[in-house]
Amino acid sequence: MDFKQYVTIVHDWPKPGIKFKDITTLMDNGEAYKAATDEIVKYAQEKQIDVVVGPEARGFIVGCPVAYSLGIGFAPVRKEGKLPREVIKVDYGLEYGKDVLTIHKDAIKPGQRVLITDDLLATGGTIEATIKLVEQLGGIVVGTAFLIELTYLDGRDKLEGYDVFTLMEY
Ligand code: IMP
Repeated sequence: MDFKQYVTIVHDWPKPGIKFKDITTLMDNGEAYKAATDEIVKYAQEKQIDVVVGPEARGFIVGCPVAYSLGIGFAPVRKEGKLPREVIKVDYGLEYGKDVLTIHKDAIKPGQRVLITDDLLATGGTIEATIKLVEQLGGIVVGTAFLIELTYLDGRDKLEGYDVFTLMEY
């Protein structure tokens, strides 16, 4: 399937000069959303995944149907103050300033094989931070999967040593 036809490019959003890749037009097409999910499921099936992990909020959109399809769990990574029980935290750099990501301390058991999902790989900062959380809990990151990779931002460089699967490149 030509997945790119379902992605809407929004010019000058959220800031002038940005060409935002809007995946909501892929998600709201049942056939395209299912086909995209199935591609990631196929990738995951080769890797014997125990649990899927994704950062809020679009990492949930990609990761939850994959976890459902594989019959395994999904562990959410969220901004600080959103998860109700004991968490571990990691700081990560944003374009302007810093933010914090958190995961429940008991979300991953040591030795579990983890697939990390998000909608889009840009600079790789979000996924690098998510990997740190998973590894702090003793999880093994056996793969990362994205709908879109912005190759000109070199996010893969931050993910050196990790397996990266993407459906579309810009
Ligand atoms: P990174 O941390 O620089 O790799 O940025 C990736 C994060 O920013 C992901 O969680 C994306 O959801 C979000 N993001 C950045 N650019 C876009 C875009 O063009 N479309 C959708 N999400 C984006």
